[in-house]
Amino acid sequence: MTSIQTKSDGASLNNLSLIAAHSHITGLGLDDHLQPKDCAQGMVGQLKARKATGVILKMIQNGKIAGRAILFAGPPSTGKTAIAMGLSQSLGTDVPFTAIAASEVFSKDISKTEALTQAFRKSIGIKIKEETELIEGEVVEIQIDRSLTGGHKHGKLTIRTTDMETIYELGNKMIDELTKEKVIAGDVISIDKSNGKVTKLGRSYARARDYDAMGPDTKFVSCPEGELQTRKEVVHTVSLHEIDVINSRQQGFLALFSGDTGEIRPEVRDQINTKVAEWKEEGKAEIVPGVLFIDEVHMLDIECFSYINRALEDDFSPIVIMATNRGISKTRGTNYMSPHGLPLDLLDRTIIIKTDPYSEDDIAKILGIRSQEEEVEMTPDGLRLLTKIGMETSLRYAANLISVSYQISRKRRAPAVDIEDIKRSYMLFLDSARSVEFLQENSDSYID
Ligand code: ATP
Repeated sequence: MTSIQTKSDGASLNNLSLIAAHSHITGLGLDDHLQPKDCAQGMVGQLKARKATGVILKMIQNGKIAGRAILFAGPPSTGKTAIAMGLSQSLGTDVPFTAIAASEVFSKDISKTEALTQAFRKSIGIKIKEETELIEGEVVEIQIDRSLTGGHKHGKLTIRTTDMETIYELGNKMIDELTKEKVIAGDVISIDKSNGKVTKLGRSYARARDYDAMGPDTKFVSCPEGELQTRKEVVHTVSLHEIDVINSRQQGFLALFSGDTGEIRPEVRDQINTKVAEWKEEGKAEIVPGVLFIDEVHMLDIECFSYINRALEDDFSPIVIMATNRGISKTRGTNYMSPHGLPLDLLDRTIIIKTDPYSEDDIAKILGIRSQEEEVEMTPDGLRLLTKIGMETSLRYAANLISVSYQISRKRRAPAVDIEDIKRSYMLFLDSARSVEFLQENSDSYID
């Protein structure tokens, strides 16, 4: 079984550490003009890479970038995965985002191409639209057709209502209000049922209260003829992979919960592709290309790379974002050296975003954020020492010392982690350079 993680299936155990390591990141930390703020949404520095990712974010949101490959390349611990997670957060829950480590593709249970196919198909969302009857008491969102208002007004108006009669009555009233130009598109109005009085609540109210309260299941009712329909459109988003599993007789939908889907027959997928294309044609479904993030991509081999090359040309292709900390290295499964270990044909169609080593100030800020995230109180001197360790070893090693130092500080009942706790944890746990040194010094005692 592979442990592919998607937004919808949450954290599988194997990915728990991956999630925890980036749990302080809530977005890319960009302003409204997509300019990176120095420190926002848990993100620090790495401005160029974040700005470039912001452009990608916009393209994804505008649906302009399916079937492309992007590579984050840079030294270890420079935030490649962190930026990808920031992108995932900024995309929200409507756009599927699947994260895998390349090594997960090599499983005993399923072939590597099957593992990749599943990961690709988890990253394609299908928005399925369905019409059902409105139920009394539902909160509905009413869309007024432009033609009813002389063409200058458009957009949605929201009403809260309790019964069907009110929906009819108020829908017509709203059309009146619109034409009288009292209410503009995007406003939210409340209507007093007892006297039919319309009150404008304004946009901020809409954002703060109504939309939040309604959640993602907001219903739409359109009224093309000035009359409201009693049917509503419900939208479900599922991934192509979920449709595959549900329709795979061998596995059945319960496999979705266990994650143990095994191989899915190509005929099942062909049928589903045809069906989804039909739904799309009939306007019943919309395809949402999501993101497939492949960390440590140099671990893939030439067969996987040629699969990706082909899959990117498919009608249903997500955006593939890869990350690597390798420079010129051998492409696995060949004797060729190439940049980042990627074959040249894949490299050729890939946009590369590079990440740079951090400044001392950036490292201090990231470690500060991580301490807060882990709810660890640290003295300024402690943070200074930890930053120094981060500069000399690696950011990840220094971040790992936070929780260890905290345990040590608790033993001596200290209110905050201080220099001595960090020193002790530094002595107890080796970083990679010291570990290598130790091995070399004691090579005789180890079996070759
Ligand atoms: P590797 O090549 O070793 O996989 P990476 O470039 O993917 O490394 P990350 O795992 O993203 O590095 O970063 C290491 C740790 O530092 C993570 O906990 C990450 O969330 C945090 N981090 C890295 N860069 C930033 C940043 N710019 N802002 C906030 N946190 C960061």
